[in-house]
Amino acid sequence: MKCTVCQKFSWEIICQTCQKNLLVPNLHKREVDKDFFVYSFYNHSEISELLNAKYHFFGDKIYNILAKHTLKRFATSFTYSNTVSAIPIDDTVNDNFSHTAILAKNLQSKIIKPYYNVLKATNKVKYAGQTLEFRQKHKRDFKYSGKSFLDVILVDDIITTGLTMLEAREILQQNDCNVLFGVALSDAKF
Ligand SMILES: [Zn+2]
Repeated sequence: MKCTVCQKFSWEIICQTCQKNLLVPNLHKREVDKDFFVYSFYNHSEISELLNAKYHFFGDKIYNILAKHTLKRFATSFTYSNTVSAIPIDDTVNDNFSHTAILAKNLQSKIIKPYYNVLKATNKVKYAGQTLEFRQKHKRDFKYSGKSFLDVILVDDIITTGLTMLEAREILQQNDCNVLFGVALSDAKF
């Protein structure tokens, strides 16, 4: 096949050279609430082209490659005293795959276990391009159907205002889970 970026022959949808040159992660830590942090790896504008509709068909492959350079490495260096559950935020399957489930899968380690299909938005409002005011008015209304008393890492593909992370943390806290922090592939305000 061809590399979607440089069009040269490649075994992967993004060739090794382009992966090495374009996908260098830059760990960023944002405090979204007092002592609650979200780690991200790219400035969203740097990778938005790759996540663009024109590569839609290969979306799952691109997310896997991005996750390999970021969350997978993050997971190998992460240590904790207990087993931690990586919970993808709203991993409903769209276009035959779930962005957040792919990201959570890449966090899997001896300590981190992905925990799928337990945190869903009941309000399917689209936030892209909307104002803070709109986002505050239209909550995701998450429903959690998983176990209580877990140590949790929340997983999302992008952090913009941080409201989604905070709303997800709130519902988990109501279910007696301890949310350690969030991770997102990219940050819109990096
Ligand atoms: Zn290339």
